[in-house]
Amino acid sequence: MSGIACARALQTAGVSVRLIDKGRGIGGRVATRRADVAGESITFDHGTQYLDQSEDAESIAKLGRGAVDVWQIGDRTHRVVGVPGMAALPKALAHGLDVALNTRVTTVVERGAHWQIETDAGKMTASHVVVTVPAPQLAPILGETHTIVQQSASAVMRPCLTLMAAFDRDTPAPFVTRRDANAVLTWIAQNNTKPGRSNAYSTWVAQAHPDWSEAHIDADRSEIKMRMVDLLCSALSVAPSKLRHAGLQGWRYGLVETHLGKPFLSEGTLWAGGDWCCGPKIQDAWRSGSAIAASILHSFRTSAYPRSATAN
Ligand SMILES: Cc1cc2nc3c(=O)[nH]c(=O)nc-3n(C[C@H](O)[C@H](O)[C@H](O)COP(=O)(O)OP(=O)(O)OC[C@H]3O[C@@H](n4cnc5c(N)ncnc54)[C@H](O)[C@@H]3O)c2cc1C
Repeated sequence: MSGIACARALQTAGVSVRLIDKGRGIGGRVATRRADVAGESITFDHGTQYLDQSEDAESIAKLGRGAVDVWQIGDRTHRVVGVPGMAALPKALAHGLDVALNTRVTTVVERGAHWQIETDAGKMTASHVVVTVPAPQLAPILGETHTIVQQSASAVMRPCLTLMAAFDRDTPAPFVTRRDANAVLTWIAQNNTKPGRSNAYSTWVAQAHPDWSEAHIDADRSEIKMRMVDLLCSALSVAPSKLRHAGLQGWRYGLVETHLGKPFLSEGTLWAGGDWCCGPKIQDAWRSGSAIAASILHSFRTSAYPRSATAN
């Protein structure tokens, strides 16, 4: 979202921009996972659950009109979500941008007046580079000793183990969402109650507490998955025999616990940003990317840089 915000603003100002992302789809942690269960295609929002009700998040929802809808959580409570999955939102927001997917950036190195970007799909050059990966993932790209990497170290990102589970459609659902900061499963949501999702199964997303996630992020995944299934079944009072599908996502750098307190880091023609600069939500990532674009445009006005930039 940070990279998309930055690229959109630059492209609108007439700058030539390319987004490079290692993911199969655009959106990073705003993601949707597909699974085939007995011939039915079902989906899970295994990252971001919804846009919150802040003014900034509402502005993003407006930009994504057509790819969002209202999710009724309770009688008087609703949230905005992507349709048919959360991933539809970044996809719509990135429409018209030059995006290279399935491309991992390995290093970014300054070569005279340009940057050389090495990827697993070959090399490219750019006059300006914006890196919007989670803070701990800057080091492999820029090098441990880079000033930006060192400055980013005060941002703290915590893991989030996320279970995706499908039960028979007639399985009782005692709630649509449950948040409990003291439980191992701090967030449980019935995914198929979101608009536009398949109702072939009763589908659930459950996120583990950051402390529990940190303690188990490197443990055997199938064991962790079954432990989370047991916890989910007991929270829903559902027999494990009703389970038809289970998947696990380990977000190693999932949630911002401590952010930097400034919208980006920069040095010369290199910028770094993301939610870890501003806060734990989509709108914080968006604010960081937008601030980087403004900073780049400002640099154009005050110098004779050529107008091209790369964000990943
Ligand atoms: C489980 C979970 C639930 C959440 N729930 C919510 C919620 O309900 N509401 C909310 O507002 N926020 C939520 N968030 C937070 C929200 O998802 C993030 O704040 C936001 O998506 C961060 O965007 P970003 O652009 O900063 O980073 P990211 O989304 O992490 O984007 C970074 C991008 O960099 C790419 N990348 C990384 N390394 C490389 C490389 N070497 N080469 C190329 N590409 C690379 C990745 O593929 C990714 O696309 C949640 C996060 C998680 C994990």
